[in-house]
Amino acid sequence: MKLKTLEMTLQRLAGFSRPRPSLEQYQTPAPLAARLLYHALMNGDIEGKRVCDLGSGTGVLAIGAALLGAESVIGIEIDEKALETARANADLLDAAVDFIAADAKDPLLPERAGPCDTVVMNPPFGAQKAHADRPFIDLALQLAPVTYGIFNAGSTQFVKAYTEGRGEIAERVGGSFQIKRTFSFHTKDVQEIEVEILRLKRTP
Ligand code: SAH
Repeated sequence: MKLKTLEMTLQRLAGFSRPRPSLEQYQTPAPLAARLLYHALMNGDIEGKRVCDLGSGTGVLAIGAALLGAESVIGIEIDEKALETARANADLLDAAVDFIAADAKDPLLPERAGPCDTVVMNPPFGAQKAHADRPFIDLALQLAPVTYGIFNAGSTQFVKAYTEGRGEIAERVGGSFQIKRTFSFHTKDVQEIEVEILRLKRTP
């Protein structure tokens, strides 16, 4: 599947029915999701691999990974409503994804969900709850040797310091991207934020 085809396919997926700001629910835009997944595919991190999507939300990243030939895909999400949307989205595209309800902070989760070969994630950035992204980084490093994560632009220093001794930033993928983020409590308020994709490698 070509990058453009993947992007157009992911564009068809439904968004959050009632996005919860406290969970920083916003859908990863199809072009950004496709970019991340395609890059991971080219690195040999998707096809035939066990992929986990942390904070899978509407399922865009998980479903995309399945369409690109992952051996198995697990989507981990705390919110039941989002899981419903994600399951319907997977059905729409006939993608085999196992969406499970779990809190990324649950210490038993690595045993339940892992191990996997590759983590993909667009975690909360910590705009509503400070440091909300940390449990996701911790879990990613436990689950897989390689992670592709979407972070606020300018997070490189933080991620580098936070993962010291556990992992390293192997790559910054494709510069920064603008994404529009709409909060449910201010439906007319669209905020542009700049994000970047980082590829983390776990320290062996
Ligand atoms: N890739 C997703 C992005 C979702 S935004 C998409 O395109 O839809 C971040 C997601 O993380 C939200 O769905 C939110 O509900 C989920 N989340 C927030 N805190 C969580 C936690 N502690 N454990 C699991 N999921 C969580």
